[in-house]
Amino acid sequence: MLRIRRIYDNVLPVNKSTLSQVQEILRNQFSQVDEKEIDHIAEKLRNPFKQRFRTILFVAESIKAKVRGFGMLLHEPVLQFAYLDWIATASGRSGAGIGGALYERVRQEVAALKVKGLFFECLPDDAKDCTHPDELKQNRARLRFYERYGARPVVNTAYESPVKPGDTYMPHLVYDDLGTGRPLKKSFAVKVVRAVLERKYAEYCPADYVDRVVNSFKDDPVRLREFRYIKPEAVVAAVESRSVNQIALIVNDRHDIHHVNERGYVESPVRVKSILKVIEPSGLFTTIKPRPFPDKHLYAVHDTDFVGYLKRACAEVPAGKSLYPYIFPIRNKTRPPKEPSVLSGYYCIDTFTPINANAYLAARRSVDCALTAAREILDGRRIAYALIRPPGHHAERRSFGGFCYFNNNAIAAQYLCAYGKVAILDVDYHHGNGSQDIFYRRSDVLTVSIHGHPRFAYPYFCGFEEERGDGEGEGFNLNIPLPESVDREKYQKALTRALHRIEEFQPQFLILALGLDTAKGDPTGTWSLKVKDFAENGRMIGALGMPMVVIQEGGYRTQTLGKNALALFQGLVEGVGRSADSRHASNHRLYGVIFRDTIVPEDRQRVRRLVDITGFFHPEEVDVAEELVVERLEKGEPSGYHFIMAEHYGRLAGYACFGQIPGTASSHDLYWIAVHPDFQGRGLGRRLLSESERRIKAAGGSRIYVDTSQRVQYASTRAFYESCGYRLETVLKDFYTVGDGKAIYCKSLI
Ligand SMILES: [Zn+2]
Repeated sequence: MLRIRRIYDNVLPVNKSTLSQVQEILRNQFSQVDEKEIDHIAEKLRNPFKQRFRTILFVAESIKAKVRGFGMLLHEPVLQFAYLDWIATASGRSGAGIGGALYERVRQEVAALKVKGLFFECLPDDAKDCTHPDELKQNRARLRFYERYGARPVVNTAYESPVKPGDTYMPHLVYDDLGTGRPLKKSFAVKVVRAVLERKYAEYCPADYVDRVVNSFKDDPVRLREFRYIKPEAVVAAVESRSVNQIALIVNDRHDIHHVNERGYVESPVRVKSILKVIEPSGLFTTIKPRPFPDKHLYAVHDTDFVGYLKRACAEVPAGKSLYPYIFPIRNKTRPPKEPSVLSGYYCIDTFTPINANAYLAARRSVDCALTAAREILDGRRIAYALIRPPGHHAERRSFGGFCYFNNNAIAAQYLCAYGKVAILDVDYHHGNGSQDIFYRRSDVLTVSIHGHPRFAYPYFCGFEEERGDGEGEGFNLNIPLPESVDREKYQKALTRALHRIEEFQPQFLILALGLDTAKGDPTGTWSLKVKDFAENGRMIGALGMPMVVIQEGGYRTQTLGKNALALFQGLVEGVGRSADSRHASNHRLYGVIFRDTIVPEDRQRVRRLVDITGFFHPEEVDVAEELVVERLEKGEPSGYHFIMAEHYGRLAGYACFGQIPGTASSHDLYWIAVHPDFQGRGLGRRLLSESERRIKAAGGSRIYVDTSQRVQYASTRAFYESCGYRLETVLKDFYTVGDGKAIYCKSLI
């Protein structure tokens, strides 16, 4: 079995391996490709507009993640065309239909981008241009393959003319109209040709060559070669693009077995029905059947004994009966009691989430739906919606509650984070305590929640602003609690703040924990969002332009649930569409850095972690970095160590440490400057340095000294100081070891 997956970057190990397999295929199949170009693929993915093209990479891989082929597409959003840079299969696999599957996937993507045409190059299939019989055969097979889609070489132009005298074997430029039947206009074609030659072959094609080729386009519309291999009527040109655009809808088909017929139990089956009734006829969704996933996904975020308990307890409760927790030990310091009715409180946070025969089955199916939605995203879909109940965002690692049993959005996030960083945006009226709990100590999943302040809203015990994450996860949990009365304006201000944080985090995937209980009139909420507010929120979230999994959480006013959900999804689609063409420079935006010069006890561990993770320092040096913090904490100012800490949403992003050199009138030493890898290359080091200089100057300092090693690894450090106005004062030869001297730089502040 083969599946085609889009690769977003090379940040994670799984993609690193995929990418190196792609590079290997390029090396093996195209010996003429420059090694430098092969190396650059990863960078192109990370910096989509570096070449003034957005790079989109698809791989066809086996179940065991072995790459069988890949397609690399360049998208030009301004001129509105796509250029297929590579399509290649691993050796010995060309006959397996992989190329065809990849090309069809590429066409779907291109059609969804709404560009005017797809272009690519193909080596010549005329015997006079290609003297090698095997290659000629291969080139003919390729052009025959593309003819099946109606794609043929542009003719009657100088595109194939040699760049230098003696150049032979020049490729054709092939045009695929994507089944639109649209003729290739000359004005459009020349822009495309210029862009391709100037950007892609910048180092190869001189300007006069580009002009010559561009000026050779005379026909309007530009002519394509006659069909050579197949009959025109045999062309299968239609592109199945709708499915790429549509939102995958995965409904929990077993949700209604979980029906708690008790007064006030608002989490009822009619919720799903009332949403479906409105969204289904919209044409915006395509229904996907939930697929079963193994239990290991539950264990990845929930404690084993908790999962086991829910399964067992639900199975033991007689049909039609519900068991409500009523006694709650102070958790974690107790032993689980034996009596089943008492035991439920050991795993639960409230008195209104019952254990009954069907709760486990329905909740387990919700998990399958959430994972099916996540899977859709991995396969390249932009939005997938798990319309499920029971909801999940109140379920913590080892507890259930708030109508929730398993944390669907956390399980989906955990599943996706093997492929890239994930942000969970929880817009339910109630704080997403479960997801916060599960990812509280992790930095690969960002949790953001906008909710009614716990002072008056469930779950009451958490959701406060100062809960920011812990350890590795410090700064990766953002709570935005809002007052009892919230209108559109207040809400959108909070949402903007949340989206900034997410953009800053640069995730590959977004999970939207969608509670519709923020709506006017919801029996569990106090806010007053209306249909058009949901549409606007959708547009704002969609504009992040990230692939997203939407997971249904709360929302209980059945009269408006459907309308609000539909408005939100229409907004999302609109926002995604708008963002697709405009996301360039956001990679370098750095919002929300705060500098402080006070030191707190937690800085000891933070500094240690940061210095360690940069990978630049020996273990002894890491110890020294920590010792300086300890000195400062113990002795204060007289320690002689001054710090500037750069904090980013409560997380230490970088710091500098400096002090006056004893025995000098006003010379200072810059002892440390370190920036967390996530923030490197974004100007933070420079800001820390100038902030240090400012403070040194204010304290009467006149000269700053900084030393570094002469080794090659420190070339960028040396270049950094030089570019900040530091002069190499002297080198102490063989200082660290033979051949590794100490380079001393100085900057005068007067
Ligand atoms: Zn809620």
